[in-house]
Amino acid sequence: IIELKQVYKDYPQAGNLQTVLHGIDLDVVSGEFVAIVGPSGNGKSTLLNLLTGIDHPSRGEVIVNGAALQKLSNEKLTRWRGANVGIVFQFFQLLPTLNLLQNTVLPMDFLGKLPKRQRQQRAMQLLEQVGLADAADRLPSQVSGGQQQRAAIARALANDPPLIVADEPTGNLDAATADAVFELFAHLRDQGKTLVMVTHNAALADAASRKLEIHSGRIHADTPTRVG
Ligand code: ATP
Ligand code: MG
Repeated sequence: IIELKQVYKDYPQAGNLQTVLHGIDLDVVSGEFVAIVGPSGNGKSTLLNLLTGIDHPSRGEVIVNGAALQKLSNEKLTRWRGANVGIVFQFFQLLPTLNLLQNTVLPMDFLGKLPKRQRQQRAMQLLEQVGLADAADRLPSQVSGGQQQRAAIARALANDPPLIVADEPTGNLDAATADAVFELFAHLRDQGKTLVMVTHNAALADAASRKLEIHSGRIHADTPTRVG
């Protein structure tokens, strides 16, 4: 479902180009749960941004669910993303003027597949699943960081995408809430979803089928876990 061929990413920095990813080759098949680990600033979020087409590589090729992402126009890419991938960002990126329910409905409005009445219903179910039924009508600024994180997960699942990409989805959660989020991802894995996740949460990393260690923009190790 994911194919990266000799992917490089450079960022301009202080007048120079800093190479953040150095020739990444990666294949992920449908149904895999890949946990990405590695030190801060070593290219993990950059890699996720390339998988979702939020950013493009400086060199190399990224093919996800049959689409060569660099070849899509921005408009097509946005459509593709809405249908194919759910993204949980490191810093949530909820829309500040919409309440949690509206934030969760938004991807469904964008895709326009479900009848309007069912969108609200599904959004409410998703918020219940992440323990936010009571906070559905609050703005992101009116809930805690952990609640925002859970709303971001509900939103990522809205269109029932085959691929879910998450950047430290338990990074801001207390142990109990992190457990609930862990259960949710374990359930998604059991449903056959493909999960690619940056995580330093031991339980989540253990639930993965494969562990990818990123060091200085390279795949330092790529190992099946006990589950895998
Ligand atoms: P963390 O664990 O702290 O989230 P990370 O592994 O996700 O770290 P990245 O966010 O991928 O790290 O950043 C990798 C490197 O690329 C860092 O040196 C960062 O400063 C640089 N970088 C990231 N985004 C940009 C950008 N838009 N412009 C310039 N440099 C960037
Ligand atoms: Mg990061």
